[in-house]
Amino acid sequence: MAKQPMLKFVRVERDMPIKRTAEDRKQDFDEIYAEFAREKAAEQASRCSQCGVPYCQNHCPLHNNIPDWLNMTATGRLEEAYAISQSTNTFPEICGRICPQDRLCEGNCVIEQSGHGTVTIGAVEKYITDTAWEKGWVQPIVPAAERTESVGIIGAGPGGLAAADMLRRAGVQVTIYDRYDRAGGLLTYGIPGFKLEKDVVMRRNKLLEDGGVRFVLNCNVGEDLSFEEIRAQHDAVIIATGVYKTRDLQGPGAGAKGIVRAIDYLTASNKASFGDEVAELIDGTLNAEGKNVVVIGGGDTAMDCVRTAIRQGATSVKCLYRRDRANMPGSQREVQNAEEEGAEFVWLAAPKGFAGDSVSSVKVQQMRLGAPDASGRQSPEVIEGADFDEPAELVIKALGFEPEDLPKLWGTDGLEVTRWGTVKANFGSGETSLDGVYAVGDIVRGASLVVWAIRDGRDTAAAILEKFNAKAAVAAE
Ligand SMILES: Cc1cc2nc3c(=O)[nH]c(=O)nc-3n(C[C@H](O)[C@H](O)[C@H](O)COP(=O)(O)OP(=O)(O)OC[C@H]3O[C@@H](n4cnc5c(N)ncnc54)[C@H](O)[C@@H]3O)c2cc1C
Ligand code: SF4
Repeated sequence: MAKQPMLKFVRVERDMPIKRTAEDRKQDFDEIYAEFAREKAAEQASRCSQCGVPYCQNHCPLHNNIPDWLNMTATGRLEEAYAISQSTNTFPEICGRICPQDRLCEGNCVIEQSGHGTVTIGAVEKYITDTAWEKGWVQPIVPAAERTESVGIIGAGPGGLAAADMLRRAGVQVTIYDRYDRAGGLLTYGIPGFKLEKDVVMRRNKLLEDGGVRFVLNCNVGEDLSFEEIRAQHDAVIIATGVYKTRDLQGPGAGAKGIVRAIDYLTASNKASFGDEVAELIDGTLNAEGKNVVVIGGGDTAMDCVRTAIRQGATSVKCLYRRDRANMPGSQREVQNAEEEGAEFVWLAAPKGFAGDSVSSVKVQQMRLGAPDASGRQSPEVIEGADFDEPAELVIKALGFEPEDLPKLWGTDGLEVTRWGTVKANFGSGETSLDGVYAVGDIVRGASLVVWAIRDGRDTAAAILEKFNAKAAVAAE
C-alpha cells in the first residue's frame, strides 16, 4: 500500500520559519521571518488532515484551495501547488506574509481546534509563490486575444491591481491612475518592510506593466485629471481609492507640533526604505530617533508605527489603548512582536490633552471597562482622579481611517455613498449608482484587509467582463 503522505499532525509538531531575534531585527526594516527550506515546507504541509469540509478554505476570503496545495507541497509537486494557489489568489506571496491568518484560515484549521496547532498555511503559501518566482514560473500576462474595451482604474492598491490583472488576462485595455509615485497603495507606502519587503510588491507592479497594464502615476484624480475625463476615456471605471482620512484627537493641545498622522509617519519611513530623500525624516518632523514616542491606538496601524519607531532609534516607545489587551482590534501576533522588540503597551489609557507648543507630554486618563455598548463590546469609562503625564516628543495618531468625501472632491453628485462615507456598491459585482462605474476595496468596506481588496477586485473584474461579453454578443447578433 502507498505510504500516506498527509495527516502527520499527530507526529509532526507545528513549526514556523525561523524568526530573527528581536535584537537583530531592530537594526533594519527587513522581514522578520526566514523562508521555509524545501523539506520543512513539505513536512509542515504534510500535517494537513485533508478535511472533507475544509474550514480553512471556507474562512479564506478567496476560498483558496488550501488542502490541495498543501498536498502538492507535501508530495514535492510544487509547480502544481503554485498553479492551484494562483488560480484563486492574485498575490499569494503577499497574503502569505500579511493576512491575519489567526483570524482567517489558520484560526479555523481543524487541527488547531483539536489542540495540535494549526497547519502553517500562510508560511506555506508564501513559500510556494516565492519558489515560483525563483524558478521563473511567474510570467507576465499574454492575453489570448486583445479586446477593444478599456477600463480605467483609480487607485493602484491591491483592489485595483487585482482587478487590473484579471481584466488584462482577458485582453482588456487597462489603465491605472494613482496619486503616488509608485504603485501598490498601502502595500507600498502603508505596511512597513518588516512585514512586507518592498521588492515583493515592486516585482508584482513590474509584472503587470510587462503584461500591458498602463500606469499613470503622480496623477491625483480630482486635481490633475477629473473623474469625468476618466469616465469619458473608458468603457468602465473602477474606484479603488482606499480610505485615508485620519480620525483625529481631541483635547487641549491636540494641534501641537510633534503630533503626527500615522499614514504620514509610515509613508515617510517607507519612502526612505526605497532610498528616497525624505525632508520630514531629515528635519526630524517624522523621525522618532532620540525621542520618547507615544502611539495612540490599538489596531495594526498602531503596531506598525510602534515597531517603526523602535527601528528609527526612539528612546522609548509606548502604545496607549483605551481598552485592554483582550479587547484590542490589532493582531496578538503583532503585539507579541512589538513587545519582543521593546515596545511598552499601556492598556486602559486614553489621551486627555497635550502639553507644550512642541509636544512634551501626553496627559493620560486611566480607564476601566464598563457595561457593553450596542455592539456588545465593553465601553471604556474614565477613572476620575487617576490621570498621569507621559513624556513624549513625538505623538503618532493611529486611531483609524475614514473615507474622503469623493462626491464632493470629484464633483460627482450621482455617486451614492453610505452614511459612513464609503461608496455604495453592489455586493459581488461592485456596481455603484453610476452607470459603468464600479468600486472595490477599502473605499467600499471601510478600513479592511488586503485579502478582501483582492477578492473585491477579482469579483468586479469578473462582473465587468460579463457585461462586456453580453454587449459583444448583442452587437454580433
Ligand atoms: C499601516 C497599515 C498596515 C496594514 N497592515 C495590514 C496587514 O498586515 N494585513 C492586511 O491584510 N491589511 C493591512 N492593512 C489594510 C490594507 O492595507 C488595506 O485594507 C488595503 O490596502 C486596501 O486596499 P485598497 O486597494 O482598497 O486601497 P489602498 O491600498 O489604500 O490603495 C488605494 C490607492 O488609491 C490611491 N488614490 C487614492 N485617492 C486617489 C485619487 N484621488 N487619485 C489617484 N489615486 C488615488 C492611493 O494613492 C492608493 O495608492 C494595513 C493598513 C495600514 C494603513
Ligand atoms: S489568502 Fe490569507 S486567509 Fe486565504 S489562505 Fe492565504 S493567508 Fe489564509
